[in-house]
Amino acid sequence: MAKTRPGWEDVRQLTPEPAPSWWPVSPTQVTRHFRDHTHKGSLERLCRSAGGRDVWLYRLGKGKPTARTANYSAAMGSSDKASYFGKQRKDYRQTLLVLCGVHGMETEAVAGAVNLLHILESGRDLRGRRWPELKKLASKFRLLLVPLANPDGRARTRIPSLIGLTTDDLTYYGQGMWKTGEIIGWSGSKRFLPLPLEKVRFSGGYPNDDGVNLMHDVSPAGHKARETTALLRLVEDEIVDACLNMHGHQRGPLILPHAAAAPDAYFDHTTELAERLQSRLQDDGLRPMEVMRGRRGLGYNLPSAMHFTSGCLSLTFETPQGVQENPYTYDELLDIQLLTFEETMRFGVECRFRPDESSDEGGRK
Ligand SMILES: [Zn+2]
Repeated sequence: MAKTRPGWEDVRQLTPEPAPSWWPVSPTQVTRHFRDHTHKGSLERLCRSAGGRDVWLYRLGKGKPTARTANYSAAMGSSDKASYFGKQRKDYRQTLLVLCGVHGMETEAVAGAVNLLHILESGRDLRGRRWPELKKLASKFRLLLVPLANPDGRARTRIPSLIGLTTDDLTYYGQGMWKTGEIIGWSGSKRFLPLPLEKVRFSGGYPNDDGVNLMHDVSPAGHKARETTALLRLVEDEIVDACLNMHGHQRGPLILPHAAAAPDAYFDHTTELAERLQSRLQDDGLRPMEVMRGRRGLGYNLPSAMHFTSGCLSLTFETPQGVQENPYTYDELLDIQLLTFEETMRFGVECRFRPDESSDEGGRK
């Protein structure tokens, strides 16, 4: 069964601090919450993972027209972005994609997504706390929520969080262990796509069941995982205006610099949002990292590909994970996710996600 499959032998089998009931992060729990509590929004299967698990897409709010004659690349070449972007009203309702659980051991945003569902549907998170501002802001968008993009990695890592474990455990549960007993590690894992599973004892939460890390499955020559194709198709079809790609690490909360090779205005916009979020988290005692001012994103990854698919503001957020070296409680981690959703939405309402819409000129025909 599952344990004998390549990459599924969890040799450490550690136990983090037990998760509260309002932290439902297993694929089964995520499915149950979205199936049972989707009323105002709609729920559909975006795709099945390599391991045959459901990847869900929750949609809420009417969007802008998406009729078009070209893809983003052709439209940019034509100097008439309406070819892809369509003719939109100046105050069209923006489309925000919140993407959670690309890496299976980064459960914080998965918990955030389930709690966001309950806030959108009933006004309260699963702790019973009201989020009126978040609910009100969300109503101004067409919201696309993928609560768990990599259910294979989530099922494989099993543990509900990394709270109370160590940074070394975070690395183990993230990228896994070779059959030699050596930890694969963050950069080590990126030497392979897909991971050669016959050489791996435990493949951690990063890849799907075919060993593919969706974050780097973005060659223009084609994707190895159908999850990647489905996500990028969603971005293209919906003309997504901003994607918030939720991740985790051992340090404090932080929005990273915008994905590489975008126009300067996207970096400036991202820095402004990062500063707003840092200030909000600081005020709430949630110990954010310093904003990486003047830095550009490096490399080419899923957020980069999303930017080049729809011209979206493509944001990458890193949450702390509550390891011993940088402790956070479950309550704090959930607050960080929800405040990040809220501040991102507030930024979208106040500044518009697409930088060329920030001025009064609007940039549209
Ligand atoms: Zn990640």
